[in-house]
Amino acid sequence: MNVSDSQWLDRSLQTMGLTPSREEDADIFLINTCSVREKPEHKIYSLLGRLQDYARLKPHVFAGVGGCVAQQVGRGFFERFPLVRLVFGTDGLAMVPEALKRLLGDAHLKTSLLDFEDYYPEREDNWNGEVPGQAFVNVMQGCDNYCAYCIVPYTRGRQKSRRSEDILAECRRLISLGTKEITLLGQNVNSYGQDRNGQELSFADLLYEIGGLAGLDRLRFTTSHPKDIDSRVIRAFGEISALCPQLHLPLQSGSDRVLEAMGRRYTREEYLNIVRDLKSACPDIALSTDLIVGFPGETEEDFSQTLDMLNLVGFDSSFSFKYSDRTGVRSCEMQPKIAVEIKAERLARLQKLQNEWTAEKLAQRVGRKEPVLIENSSKKQHGGETVSWTGRDPGGRVVHVTLPPGRDFGRQLLQVEIVRAHKHSLTGEVIK
Ligand code: SAH
Ligand code: SF4
Repeated sequence: MNVSDSQWLDRSLQTMGLTPSREEDADIFLINTCSVREKPEHKIYSLLGRLQDYARLKPHVFAGVGGCVAQQVGRGFFERFPLVRLVFGTDGLAMVPEALKRLLGDAHLKTSLLDFEDYYPEREDNWNGEVPGQAFVNVMQGCDNYCAYCIVPYTRGRQKSRRSEDILAECRRLISLGTKEITLLGQNVNSYGQDRNGQELSFADLLYEIGGLAGLDRLRFTTSHPKDIDSRVIRAFGEISALCPQLHLPLQSGSDRVLEAMGRRYTREEYLNIVRDLKSACPDIALSTDLIVGFPGETEEDFSQTLDMLNLVGFDSSFSFKYSDRTGVRSCEMQPKIAVEIKAERLARLQKLQNEWTAEKLAQRVGRKEPVLIENSSKKQHGGETVSWTGRDPGGRVVHVTLPPGRDFGRQLLQVEIVRAHKHSLTGEVIK
């Protein structure tokens, strides 16, 4: 979601006539931040400390800080880092281009855009010229789930669904400009529309509408909360041909006791039933997940239940994190906290097991013939002879393909045979 927000801002600023530059040549720094865990939050303070030096040499240089850390720290950034003249929260993003114009016109001005809106703040359509083969489209903002460990509802605000009409219009426009693949984005897409009293399409209907748009090859969505996934959404994986066989379904923990303390509102059995239904609707589905180790009170037995779930589901990949306290969330009060060494040791065990599964899942792809959507951004030149490109298979796995030089294969869907599996990716050869 942050990547997508940054891409929107990048397009808007280029429309305004601003151009991207190297750090040492920049007049304006814009930093989009994440506070979901401790580590990314720390990075921003050291970055701003470093950038402060440029402002000492060139007084016109200034910075804008956006995203979740900005939403929390707000105008506090102005005092800590004189370089910062703009702070904007997640709902303020749409107004950043206008704010920058004002800041460029008045060197003494400092501005904050931190209010939450009651409705999804529709952003200016800035899809001009070349669009990516793979594009993100927001369907909602914020989250109402208040999982015990999570700061998102506080930094991104309450759930606000975007109007179905606006979502469809953006998808149609992207397709008309050449986009082949759309990923629908939201913190919990499965509860899309629940805040709009039935005025909008259900998420399943939205998938069928978008999946039916002529010219769209691939549709994906993220993130899904297991408690809200609808049986119609599960069925859609078997019925909508554009819907890719891939789902990111955050589990967080394999222990019912921990899941309850986290306030996730599903059990391991319910999760396994969803997985069973998904696999029966779409046998080739690639599943990925998010896992937290060392939630307060997590015992060795709880943790072994998480490892057990890895083996029962067989995830293609997972993102796993050490639990960290985030200011103001419920789990800060929960005891006992798990020692850092234990968290690190559990994380290492979990990641080792996941790597084994990932290797096995990737090895199973060898010999498959599949369409790979070549992505523009990742081409590498090898001595002028051939050019290596990367793309993704329908399951979302990264595939490297060597192609003849002198041609732009970006945004093309090529039929590829998978010939080798690596640690996190595949190599394929184009089928003649
Ligand atoms: N909306 C998504 C994910 C949001 S945050 C969902 O519900 O799944 C992304 C991931 O960060 C979460 O899935 C969780 O695994 C992790 N995370 C969130 N808060 C955390 C915390 N306090 N400590 C460690 N990991 C956390
Ligand atoms: Fe955070 Fe996701 Fe839970 Fe919302 S559903 S509170 S974003 S973990």
